[in-house]
Amino acid sequence: MLTDRIPRTAAQARSDIRTYKGIGASPGIAIGRAVIVEKRTAAVYRVPIRDEDVAGEVTRFLESLENTRTELHELKQKVSRSMGEEFASIFEAHAMIVSDPSFADKVIQKIESEQVNAEWALSEVQEEYEARFQSFEDEYLRERMADVKDVAERVLTHLSGIAHHDLSEITHDVIIVAEDLTPSDAIHFNRRPIVGFTTESGGRTSHTSIIAKSLFMPAVIGVPKLTRIVDNDELLIVDGYEGTVIVSPTPAMVSEYRNRVSLHEEAEKTLLENRLLKAVTKDNRQISLQANIELTEELDDAAKYGAEGIGLYRSEFLYISKSPDLPNEDEHVAVYRQLVESTAPGGCVIRTFDLGGKKLAREVMGSKEDNPVLGLRALRLCMKHRDMFKTQLRALLRASAFGPMKIMFPLVSGVQELRQVKALLREIKAELDAEGVAYNTNVPIGIMIEVPSAAVIADMLATEADFFAIGTNDLIQYSLAIDRSNENVSYLYEPLHPALLRLIKTVIDAGKRAGIPVSMCGEMAADPIYAIVLIGLGLEIFSMNPSNIPVIKNVIRSVRYRDCRRIAEVALQKKTAQEIEEFVIESVAMRFPEGLVQKNP
Ligand code: PEP
Ligand code: MG
Repeated sequence: MLTDRIPRTAAQARSDIRTYKGIGASPGIAIGRAVIVEKRTAAVYRVPIRDEDVAGEVTRFLESLENTRTELHELKQKVSRSMGEEFASIFEAHAMIVSDPSFADKVIQKIESEQVNAEWALSEVQEEYEARFQSFEDEYLRERMADVKDVAERVLTHLSGIAHHDLSEITHDVIIVAEDLTPSDAIHFNRRPIVGFTTESGGRTSHTSIIAKSLFMPAVIGVPKLTRIVDNDELLIVDGYEGTVIVSPTPAMVSEYRNRVSLHEEAEKTLLENRLLKAVTKDNRQISLQANIELTEELDDAAKYGAEGIGLYRSEFLYISKSPDLPNEDEHVAVYRQLVESTAPGGCVIRTFDLGGKKLAREVMGSKEDNPVLGLRALRLCMKHRDMFKTQLRALLRASAFGPMKIMFPLVSGVQELRQVKALLREIKAELDAEGVAYNTNVPIGIMIEVPSAAVIADMLATEADFFAIGTNDLIQYSLAIDRSNENVSYLYEPLHPALLRLIKTVIDAGKRAGIPVSMCGEMAADPIYAIVLIGLGLEIFSMNPSNIPVIKNVIRSVRYRDCRRIAEVALQKKTAQEIEEFVIESVAMRFPEGLVQKNP
């Protein structure tokens, strides 16, 4: 059996019920057996394999070695033509490592003796080599360590990161338990038998959490030491509503949780009854509710939950799901065309690649930074990698001919950046004109407001942008100086912080004065309590995970705008997020005694 091969910990013999508290990152309840995935580097997991799969794993490794050899050979020829023999010899050295039988033998031996996936075996051998090279006195030899690393990473890429296939043969439901998962891991884990996941690190608005929500995959994150306190194959309940993980529940608990699943399903059915109703307050203020999506597969969810168009399509997931290749222009066009055609007349706001930070910049661009979240991310990264960016912009313009679309740039920090990217768009438009390619000459160009500097000068940016979308996930991160993915500071992640409310008000007011639409697509928009304050601050377009739309629509339909405005005015005078929250909850109870606020399910 798969899990028998994992070295057991001291907790092995435990069969007691344990409950751990984390952050409910994605609602829902999952019940299944734990599969602990240990992580070595960005995407290397230790996955145990069965006796009968060992030979196949060795073959998979040998095939990836062969592919790497071919790739290196082609690279050598290409570099030799363009840069000369001297540079090409680097790849020859790499090819020698790949062909070195002792390197391959060591990896194979590990796969066989430890019965682990090839990725893990390879990374272990790489570490052994590194340790050996580091001890060499000769500097030249020490530097060859980088070559081994390079080769290992190339082979890893051919092995495609994670041995997902190992899980596919399990017939019972499993819950992934990991130290951390990247957004692309979350995408890949989106299939049976995986029914949920739980991790040690992460924050509620980290991209992994956002993806989990989009995929309706219950998830609890930020549970300290989880991979050490849970054993493989233990029964788990992951309660994404409450943010709890229950280990070894009794049969009675399991059936109680199954009941809860049915209750939630019933509640959702009732909520969905408002699908065709307008999002309008009791005193007739119209609000537009739109959807945030990451994958085109979510278009159906957006329609099902009653979204009026897509307020944020995170295009980087197009890359992430194709990684390590970049999508070509036609692939971009096909996706954007599908988006605009299926979201008409509401339309679709397509955000250009927000890669970098914690989303794959290193893998894409080879850039390694000490502070990636403050580094080459989003628009900055795209402007630096023009070819990649131009491909995307050309495709966006081409697709704009097929339906209503808006183009949005992420992480703009000032006017100059906006001007530069608009100049690039003009260049591309001229190219398309010269080629006689059709596009919408008036496609609206907007920006995310997610850097405090942009919020502060929103009045200036409003004269050069066609619309704003407030991205509170990042705006909170950057204005309160807390990493949105770090569970240690998640207690400081306060959407109702007075500084944040002031920034949001500044942006909404600036947009109104300039006559441009302002939306919010951060997670803050999807919370009933926050929504009341936001309505009061004058926000008219909310964009969120599709499944949150019915709850927020109910909130909107049961309040009066003038009450919300009064609540927001008083909230702006309060000094702490706690005081504001208490005040809003009390006001809601007083002004709307019939009870409106259903917490997100
Ligand atoms: C945000 O920052 O609020 C946002 C919507 O963008 P993302 O979550 O993709 O960073
Ligand atoms: Mg953002």
